[in-house]
Amino acid sequence: DNAQPKKPDWIRVKAPTSKEYMETKKIMRENRLVTVCEEAGCPNAGECWSQGHATMMIMGDICTRGCTFCNIATGRPENLDVFEPGRVAHAVEKLGLNHVVITSVDRDDLDDGGADHFAQTIRAVRHRSPGTTIEILTPDFLKCAPEVLEVVVEAKPDVFNHNLETVPGLYQEVRPGARYFHSLRLLQRVKELDPTIFTKSGIMVGLGEERPQVLQVMDDMRAADVDFMTIGQYLQPTPKHHAVARFITPDEFKSYEKAAYNKGFLMVSATPLTRSSYHAGDDFARLREA
Ligand code: SF4
Ligand code: SF4
Repeated sequence: DNAQPKKPDWIRVKAPTSKEYMETKKIMRENRLVTVCEEAGCPNAGECWSQGHATMMIMGDICTRGCTFCNIATGRPENLDVFEPGRVAHAVEKLGLNHVVITSVDRDDLDDGGADHFAQTIRAVRHRSPGTTIEILTPDFLKCAPEVLEVVVEAKPDVFNHNLETVPGLYQEVRPGARYFHSLRLLQRVKELDPTIFTKSGIMVGLGEERPQVLQVMDDMRAADVDFMTIGQYLQPTPKHHAVARFITPDEFKSYEKAAYNKGFLMVSATPLTRSSYHAGDDFARLREA
């Protein structure tokens, strides 16, 4: 695709080689766990894995949706593995994580969208690693009864993250199958159900959105009481995926960060390489100390 802008030098990726990286990889393999770091080809994998941070993806590696920015395979997922929550808990314990991020594919094939599996995973991790803070990054449960959300909230994750991914005007193109206001409402309901849980959401930029649209998303998130926000540069995983419209400059990211703090978010990460789970634990620890 010759229309693609050239990758600027602020998007630099270090090849992962450290001993700690290999150790993290080994623990993931031994426990047969899928990580979003690998599946999404995340540019931070070298850094994160060297520090024992990783985002585990539960409920398989096949998704029932087909978002045009995402590198996860679309299709018919396998049955849920009832032993998976235990394996996640084991890996978290072995990695000695202070903070873990657990995400999943979308499971529109399940009546509860995988809500109970999420809850069981949270409980299993909590049981084995009571000192570890748990962040979940969930699907939208669009096709489920509204009550399924309560099942997840009752398991008391420390941070409930659900990404809006992009501005509403680009949903049809970027996130077909999802609904902007449904996702927003989901975040708001988490807060209503349990105000002690921090809520978090994020978007990618460089997909073709305009600055006023991004500022509007910030306002919408704050109106839904979202606490933390992440903004990162979209990178095209393969030439088949949605094109990069533009590389947002580091200064523009700084300006987004400032705007977001002004709107009242407790924590904002807005840099080219920000991902929803990037440094999530460090930021959260800082916030708890404050
Ligand atoms: Fe994994 Fe998130 Fe780090 Fe990327 S930013 S390597 S997805 S933990
Ligand atoms: Fe990827 Fe999530 Fe979309 Fe599935 S729902 S295609 S995992 S972004």
